[in-house]
Amino acid sequence: MAEQMTGGCACGKVRYTAKVEPAEAYLCHCRMCQRATGSVSIAFVNALLDGIEWQSEPDWYESSPIARRPYCAACGTSLGFRFKEGSDKMDLTVASFDDPSPFNPKHHFGAESIHRAWLNTEGLPEMRTDSYQKLVDKWVDATGKFPG
Ligand SMILES: [Zn+2]
Repeated sequence: MAEQMTGGCACGKVRYTAKVEPAEAYLCHCRMCQRATGSVSIAFVNALLDGIEWQSEPDWYESSPIARRPYCAACGTSLGFRFKEGSDKMDLTVASFDDPSPFNPKHHFGAESIHRAWLNTEGLPEMRTDSYQKLVDKWVDATGKFPG
């Protein structure tokens, strides 16, 4: 079921509303996406162009001869992927949504460059940001409170 959801970049300059199916997200592991996002993989959800409304426009760069990527020039957030031609859809980055929690991955793409060591991290030691006192102290010193 398609849902109307909101998102944007880290600094708030770019904002969007998109009609997406949270159960149809996926991870892309291709080298182009790894380099473009600086991540071992990137979580995307596909959306019809007609269902995406930019309240404030992203910047775009030509990431290859066949595609463009929206991002924020002020804060650097990666916002998605779009073929230059031949598609009525594009991808949005799952973590740029205001609430990424409803999304579920349905498949892997770019399987040839999957970094297997990062696929199943369940069972590794876990630490909350608010348990890292050094970080909390820096926030409190700078702003008077911890944003977590
Ligand atoms: Zn920004």
